[in-house]
Amino acid sequence: MSRADLASLYKVTDGRKFKLSDYDPADCGDLDINKAEAKERLEQDIKSLSELQEKLYAQDRWSVLLIFQAMDAAGKDSAIEHVMKGINPQGCQVHSFKAPSAIELDHDYMWRTSCALPERGRIGVFNRSYYEEVLVVRVRPEILGKQRLPQDLVTKNIWQERYEDIRGFERYLARNGTLILKFFLNVSKEEQKKRFLDRIDEPDKNWKFNPGDVAERALWNQYMSAYEDAIRNTASEHAPWYVVPADKKWYTRLVVAAAIDEAMQGLNLQFPKVDSVGLEEIRKSREALMNEK
Ligand code: ATP
Ligand code: MG
Repeated sequence: MSRADLASLYKVTDGRKFKLSDYDPADCGDLDINKAEAKERLEQDIKSLSELQEKLYAQDRWSVLLIFQAMDAAGKDSAIEHVMKGINPQGCQVHSFKAPSAIELDHDYMWRTSCALPERGRIGVFNRSYYEEVLVVRVRPEILGKQRLPQDLVTKNIWQERYEDIRGFERYLARNGTLILKFFLNVSKEEQKKRFLDRIDEPDKNWKFNPGDVAERALWNQYMSAYEDAIRNTASEHAPWYVVPADKKWYTRLVVAAAIDEAMQGLNLQFPKVDSVGLEEIRKSREALMNEK
């Protein structure tokens, strides 16, 4: 199966008919391959991404924003690690968005995002993002209470208004040369439990376990409806969501890599061409070097 076909299985560009229950977290598509073959395929994807990134950097026009959202232990960190590992670190910036600091809370919620957006020619990875503003903040109303918004502005329309603002923000970024891809790593509740237990039972993984994650897990259904609603309201051609099966990590990585590759191929990136004046300069430089005593 080609990369484009693989990515298209999970791509949502029009959220109107989107239902999370249509997507199986344990899906492996039609890819009937073993671990070694999956590894080999990912190596090829990584090589292709590295070539694309070199052109992105050289051309210095587009930027790429990759957003990762998921429940805890869905594999955001490992997807980022494995898919981006062939990329020149100079061309890539990763930002992890945690609960906002006091300074951040003193501003609108996009403030910290704007400062973290990738420059032209770069790939920016958001490990969580402004989508938390319609996810955790929606599921836990006490967080909204701490945002110190003027009371009159907090109405029952607040989530629809946030979707509208996010849509506007993403359209603005797209019109300014940012390729936006959003990944929801869709892990099942059972698989999350297995991974939590693994973190608890294996001493070397204890550091990854956060007892607070179990409290978030208790709100699983609320989170799932918040994700579903967010995807429904913010999927678009210029900022698609990919609902990536996340119960099998090898498959998650292949889908994420395929989606990035396919979208970046679509930018038709080229190394900058040197014009005739530039070529003449190069010729003269060569001559000067050759004539050095
Ligand atoms: P991991 O647990 O795999 O290390 P993580 O992304 O869960 O990665 P944590 O430090 O555990 O990292 O959690 C970050 C927490 O910050 C999440 O619970 C998330 O919901 C919360 N968070 C992020 N953005 C916001 C926000 N705008 N408002 C409130 N909470 C937020
Ligand atoms: Mg966490």
